Amino acid sequence: MNDMVKNLLIWGVIAVVLIAVFNQFSSISSSGQQVSYTTFYSDITNGKLKEVHINNKEIAATTSSNSNYVTYIPYFDNKLMDDLLKYNVPVFGTPEEKPSLLTTILISWFPIIFLIGFWLFIMRQMQGGGKGGPMSVGKSKARMLTPDQVKTKFTDVAGSEEAKQEVTEVVDFLRDPGKYQKLGGRIPKGILMVGPPGTGKTLLARAIAGEANVPFFTISGSDFVEMFVGVGASRVRDLFEQARKHAPCIIFIDEIDAVGRKRGAGSMGGHDEREQTLNQMLVEMDGFEANSGIIIIAATNRVDILDPALLRPGRFDRQVQVGLPDMKGREQILAVHVRKVPLDNNVDLSVLARGTPGYSGADLANLVNEAALFAARRNKRLVSMDEFEEAKDKINMGTERRSLTMTTEQLVNTAYHEAGHAIVGYLVPEHDPLHKVTIIPRGGALGVTFFLPEGDQISQSKTKLESMISTAYAGRIAEGLIYGDDKITSGASSDIRYASNVARAMVTEWGFSDRLAPIFFEYEESSYGPMKKISDETARIIDEDVQAIIKRNYERAYQLLTDNIDILHAMKDALIKYETIGKKQIAELMGRKPVTPPDGWTEKDEQAVKAVPTEGESEPTSKNDIGPDDSSSSNS
Ligand code: ADP
Repeated sequence: MNDMVKNLLIWGVIAVVLIAVFNQFSSISSSGQQVSYTTFYSDITNGKLKEVHINNKEIAATTSSNSNYVTYIPYFDNKLMDDLLKYNVPVFGTPEEKPSLLTTILISWFPIIFLIGFWLFIMRQMQGGGKGGPMSVGKSKARMLTPDQVKTKFTDVAGSEEAKQEVTEVVDFLRDPGKYQKLGGRIPKGILMVGPPGTGKTLLARAIAGEANVPFFTISGSDFVEMFVGVGASRVRDLFEQARKHAPCIIFIDEIDAVGRKRGAGSMGGHDEREQTLNQMLVEMDGFEANSGIIIIAATNRVDILDPALLRPGRFDRQVQVGLPDMKGREQILAVHVRKVPLDNNVDLSVLARGTPGYSGADLANLVNEAALFAARRNKRLVSMDEFEEAKDKINMGTERRSLTMTTEQLVNTAYHEAGHAIVGYLVPEHDPLHKVTIIPRGGALGVTFFLPEGDQISQSKTKLESMISTAYAGRIAEGLIYGDDKITSGASSDIRYASNVARAMVTEWGFSDRLAPIFFEYEESSYGPMKKISDETARIIDEDVQAIIKRNYERAYQLLTDNIDILHAMKDALIKYETIGKKQIAELMGRKPVTPPDGWTEKDEQAVKAVPTEGESEPTSKNDIGPDDSSSSNS
């Protein structure tokens, strides 16, 4: 309220000053009606005028009968003065207007004073000095939810057990920061939640606040960014100031990539604002103690584009992967969302979960909602499986879904592809051990084969590097073996790029060429682009050697898969059935033994598999990748 009065007052003063200035400029109009110059002139010659006041082009005349009128000189006329004197009309001039000192100052200084005032006003707003009001540019747009408003609990977040486990420690800390402070333990300041949209990152962050019973600040990365340089930075400052007042608390920054992109990308300038905002964020994060009770949680889908400075120790040094849910996860998420929906007896959540591969948590929430709407439209009291099926069709065909729609063909194709990677990765020497294989999309790939390195990866042997190349090609080879070479599509490009890079580096950087001496064959960046420091002859040998490495490893993978094609089929079946298989299942498959179901698999799931067959082989429709960082990106 106070602020409104203050604002009104400021605008009032501005208005008064403006009016004063305009008045100053406007002419002092005389009284009396206006007559034509001709009438006025004939009045002079007819001796009808008592006196005349001339002010520039404006003439105020008083007639002998004491009536007043005004007229204006249409052009500059020397003759007028002569005639007035000739006919003895008393003429009065006007003294030159001397504006008062105050007016002079106001007029000449007003624009400057106004600008300075405006600038001070904006600066103060940016510093976060002002409170609210329509002009509060520099205030953070964060929304604060008090502990009573955050009702989300861990039970509302289903199917992300690994992610939940990783953050329970944080909840514990927020509940009783003192406990950790006494022991000198350090709790991460920043947690980065990585995963595709709709997988429950926001939900999980809220659940942390809900469980810990602390305030929750939420803001999107794009809310910091404005046209004016400095605004974003001041918003960051303001946000942290508020958070400090409410510690212990959680700050949640959604879409951190909006401000956290790598700096210096594109040297044409114009990134100043974002960089300043990012710098301010780094400064703030460094500025508070690890135990001050503020935990920042940021969400993103793209860690790779984030500025490395953000990921350094003491900042967002802990990453929590929140991926698309697998079958079990989907069933649990559905269970959370149908809590308030009256269900028909024929609704089987495990069947639904099985029929919705690739759905995110948000998609599943949407599915339940759509089904309930269908039922309501039909005036039904219970939501039955029919409605769920219709809702699924609607979501699959409509535009509502942001994530991938997986068809049966895609799933089978993905299963063969990943099984190919897994089998070759298992059989080649010195390869990192297999951790798990999944056909649930992750980070732009349709499926992932996880390898977990043992110990630190400081250097790698030639044998291991060659094994990695064989494994990378195995997905593509598996597809070729099943569907025929003609049907191989362009999808495995990142596998190929990865293998090619390894092979090239083997020859040009690590000295593993068969023919060349171990020399570092470098390219040098110059202003004309990369400059070769090698002869054409050497370049040719490099190319040949790279191709030789690729060729022998491709052939090895081909041989391994042809010899074990029965395992390829069996692993595909297991993947289709369980979506994700772990170490145990992989070992069983490789030993040609029957596969035991993964942990938590129930008789009901077994029935769901029978109810929703995903069999049938068909043409490959798309591909999937294992990338260079698949082995390290897996958690647990
Ligand atoms: P993100 O922040 O990852 O984009 P949100 O947390 O905003 O996703 O999720 C959107 C909605 O989807 C949530 O409000 C919730 O209803 C539903 N949802 C997503 N993941 C889950 C989950 N694991 N358990 C229950 N509901 C979920």
